[in-house]
Amino acid sequence: MREQLKFYIDGKWTDPAEMKTLDVENPATETVCGKIALGSAADVDVAVKAARKAFASWSQTSTADRVGILQNILAEYQKRAGDLAAALTEEMGAPSSLANGFQVGLGEGHLSTAIDVLQKFRFEEQRGATLIVKEPIGVCALITPWNWPLNQIAVKVFPALATGCTMILKPSEIAPFTAQIFAEILHAAGVPAGVFNLIQGDGPGVGEALSGHPDIDMITFTGSTRAGVEIARNAAHSVKRVTQELGGKSPNIILDDEAFATHVAGSVAGMMANSGQTCSAGSRMLVPNARMQEAMDIAREAASQVTVGDPNTDVAMGPVSSKVQFEKIQGLIQKGIDEGATLVAGGTGRPQDLEVGYYVKPTVFANVTNDMTIAREEIFGPVLCILGYDSVEQAIEIANDTEYGLAGYVAGADLDKARAVARQIRAGWVSVNDGFDFNCPFGGYKKSGNGREWGEFGFHDFLEIKGILGYS
Ligand code: NAD
Repeated sequence: MREQLKFYIDGKWTDPAEMKTLDVENPATETVCGKIALGSAADVDVAVKAARKAFASWSQTSTADRVGILQNILAEYQKRAGDLAAALTEEMGAPSSLANGFQVGLGEGHLSTAIDVLQKFRFEEQRGATLIVKEPIGVCALITPWNWPLNQIAVKVFPALATGCTMILKPSEIAPFTAQIFAEILHAAGVPAGVFNLIQGDGPGVGEALSGHPDIDMITFTGSTRAGVEIARNAAHSVKRVTQELGGKSPNIILDDEAFATHVAGSVAGMMANSGQTCSAGSRMLVPNARMQEAMDIAREAASQVTVGDPNTDVAMGPVSSKVQFEKIQGLIQKGIDEGATLVAGGTGRPQDLEVGYYVKPTVFANVTNDMTIAREEIFGPVLCILGYDSVEQAIEIANDTEYGLAGYVAGADLDKARAVARQIRAGWVSVNDGFDFNCPFGGYKKSGNGREWGEFGFHDFLEIKGILGYS
């Protein structure tokens, strides 16, 4: 049983101002696997004071000093990789292979990239008689979700540290233990007191106290559009910077060529990874209408190969993260059936022999039209929609007909054609033939948010830009 009843503030594990606790559930067993203290506005005040005090010195450290600290973190992170993965499996239901591999690997990738970028980053630039100075924005609040808990923490904490900011992290109350280990890693790595602080809690208790706090300079938020809007509204009074990484309903255009079958099959597996709980998931697959039947056959076969079960065993997919998510997904699958989409694989109810745990069947709908609820709402579960197009122009039109704009995918053997299509997708992160790069800016257009994370672009959100004139 895991327990975190103290917060990491000013370099020490500290008792909360008042003791209120929350049980954490293991979604694979539906049993309590731990308990956390829920913070309050009083805890936020103490952490903000510590972060403000630490900012005075941390913001003045040299790049070399910060590189040194990040390198220490990398060494500690590698030592604790197994512990991080075990926590991810327990609190999130992430299969061990995914947790040990991609989930922990993503955090390490972002850290190595931050070190690399920092070593080359120009904090000052002379432009004629003007000096452009990029300075850390100050004390930041980092509010993160549960779905890729470690990744979301990594893409905020590492650039914040690299740029000289100090911070208070509030992770999701649904996946709090990865964050606890993360704090232990930073402590062991010698991050100075007050630079990084961790408070556990929920949106109303800690999230709102952070977003409304007058002495916080910036909020960086990843989560739902609903909470993102509330945070921005709450933060408006103090005119602080708010960056938002929100939901998505990303298109995946499969071009009509010889690579079609491979891409359809690969995209089904990709959609089911992490039980579909990925903001950038390619949840709307677009295929030529003339090949809809072929796509259905390939997708049915690919979905049948996705193994579902106990995340501590060798499976591709564990449960979804909570009962609330499970019920929401079941409701949307039923909606897809009611609205007339063709159910190709999966459906409502639990997979065979999995009566306990929030397991969902890998589900594929075909003949989906873009006005259906399942094509418009973020399902955040292992549910793929296949839509048809008659021309590439129509595919692009359907791809962009969404209130979201986080990610997009294009797959095809003709690279020039695929790249031309990628340029026309209105989204911040578009991958051609599964291209992946830790230094690629990641963030949304439209209701998917603002700001950019990952690599060099991830530094910019944490910096103020000052121009000093008459500086020749
Ligand atoms: P959520 O919005 O419910 O919660 C996210 C975080 O915000 C949690 O820490 C929560 O405690 C906090 N929070 C909730 N209400 C708040 C409020 N009023 N004020 C301040 N904080 C508040 O989201 P979730 O269910 O944890 O995550 C799923 C959502 O996150 C999905 O919509 C997904 O698309 C999105 N997401 C986006 C990205 C991205 O990079 N764009 C990445 C991962 C997840």
